[in-house]
Amino acid sequence: MSELLDVRVIGAPEVADQAIARLRELLDLDRLHGPYPSRKTPGLARFYLTGRLRHADTPALAGEAARLRAALELLTACQHGQGLDCPDCEPVPDLVRQALGGEAVRPA
Ligand SMILES: [Zn+2]
Repeated sequence: MSELLDVRVIGAPEVADQAIARLRELLDLDRLHGPYPSRKTPGLARFYLTGRLRHADTPALAGEAARLRAALELLTACQHGQGLDCPDCEPVPDLVRQALGGEAVRPA
């Protein structure tokens, strides 16, 4: 059985672009063709994607976690340029610290 999946995306260009970005995280893409103008509705963009479904715990999710971590690091960056261990700032909660280290586990 082939694991290849063909997906056709038709939509307003901005929406189609967003869909492609999300599908990239879902699929390990072999091919991406487009945008082409839609034949039926001028103004819509048409894309064809071929790829394999990523397994649930593959780099897409790791990438998601990395992005969240980067966002957290930005949120916890301090104005003294000292980061998490700045002596002049409020201490960072342990849970945030663990999340930044990738060790936080949802309570059972
Ligand atoms: Zn500080």
